[in-house]
Amino acid sequence: MKKWNFPPFLSGFKKEVCSQCGELNDAVASSCKKCGQTFEINLTRQSFTHLTPLTPLKEMIIFLFGTLGLFLFSLLAQAVIISFASAVLWNGGLTGGALQEALSSYLESVDCLTLLNYGTYAIALIFLFLLLGRDFLNLYKTFKNKRVLYGFLMGAITFLLSYSLSLLLSLAADTSENQQLSNSMLAAYPALSFFMSVFLIPFFEECTYRLGLFTFLKRIHPLIAYLFSALIFGFVHLGNLSSLNEWLNFPVYVLGGLLFAFTYDRFGFGASYLAHASYNLLAISVNLILIFAF
Ligand SMILES: [Zn+2]
Repeated sequence: MKKWNFPPFLSGFKKEVCSQCGELNDAVASSCKKCGQTFEINLTRQSFTHLTPLTPLKEMIIFLFGTLGLFLFSLLAQAVIISFASAVLWNGGLTGGALQEALSSYLESVDCLTLLNYGTYAIALIFLFLLLGRDFLNLYKTFKNKRVLYGFLMGAITFLLSYSLSLLLSLAADTSENQQLSNSMLAAYPALSFFMSVFLIPFFEECTYRLGLFTFLKRIHPLIAYLFSALIFGFVHLGNLSSLNEWLNFPVYVLGGLLFAFTYDRFGFGASYLAHASYNLLAISVNLILIFAF
């Protein structure tokens, strides 16, 4: 049986001087960023073979941007929508209580929620591309590797396992708030929802939780990376923290977080993106069938 070899704690944060040109390199880099000399393989480097490390700081920034930044963007988008909608209603001759009533019914409508949700992602994605800069090319390269095809397999496995788990949990729990919102947007705007959930949102989330968080935590220790990236991925998908129902759906998201982390760890970013995208494709197809066939 294969023995598990873990790199020492925190070894991923070390720096190493290149013997050929003297450049200071990240200890997880496989070759010198200045002269290109290939470094000798050790446990730390080996454990980063399929990952796309940025710098620890940039990994943390991308994670914080994808979580807190996205939240702040959604507040900002909400403020813009409220002022804009108020102005439109006021121009339409509504004032006082009537304006407030019309405003609050618009804010609860699926139109408004779709605009808010996808609008926030669209703006955040532009900033994410700016943040990634040249590192985007390294992500793109991971799609040219044959291992990327394992992503489809992992997406199907993740779908089957989490669907079984959620069927099991559905004996006790209702659909999560996150899923309810997705379903109502899907019913109202199928094409837009499909495009966002299958192509763009998986990219955003893989950057945030795998490229950013998982890579950063793996510099501390692989087990910490798996455990915390999956738990945090579970937490952010919870709607109302005080509802028991939401907590019953928590294990499904944690399982997804673990399997996507495994995919990134073993097959690279391209594979974890394709796993997440094909998972969403399968989930959305089932929901489309349920929405439009019954
Ligand atoms: Zn060098």
